[in-house]
Amino acid sequence: MAYDPENIFAKILRGELPAHKVYEDAHVFSFMDIFPQGKGHTLVIPKAPAENLFDLPGDALANLIQATQKVSVAVRDVFEPDGVLIAQFNGAAAGQTVFHIHFHIIPRWEGDALPGHGHTGRGDDAELAVMAKEIAAKL
Ligand code: 5GP
Repeated sequence: MAYDPENIFAKILRGELPAHKVYEDAHVFSFMDIFPQGKGHTLVIPKAPAENLFDLPGDALANLIQATQKVSVAVRDVFEPDGVLIAQFNGAAAGQTVFHIHFHIIPRWEGDALPGHGHTGRGDDAELAVMAKEIAAKL
């Protein structure tokens, strides 16, 4: 499938849709997931247009995973979870719903069930804004 420049994350990158921004550099953009699977659920995307892992050139992928590590450290510092889940889905059959490659950063706590991917309610914008600021302050 060809990359669709009208996907939601492409619109966020172009500033056509709002996002609770956490981090940005020349290669990547990071923001809060608005249907979080848990407190602190953060996304990291490349600025390069690529649908999935198979389409992203190696140098852009290297920047993306390094930024994911950097943002994950900040997320861990803010929320002090027991663990951090890093997830990435390729194709609808694998669970991908937005077709611009992204890494999920999801803090995890012992005994807390992980809600199903794509089955969560919309997060509260005021709370997401506070979390984004807290994470950004660590970067
Ligand atoms: P995927 O299912 O493709 O792995 O992940 C897409 C993620 O984007 C989901 O976790 C979903 O909650 C999130 N999402 C969908 N629409 C929006 C949006 O408009 N803004 C933000 N920040 N996240 C979104």
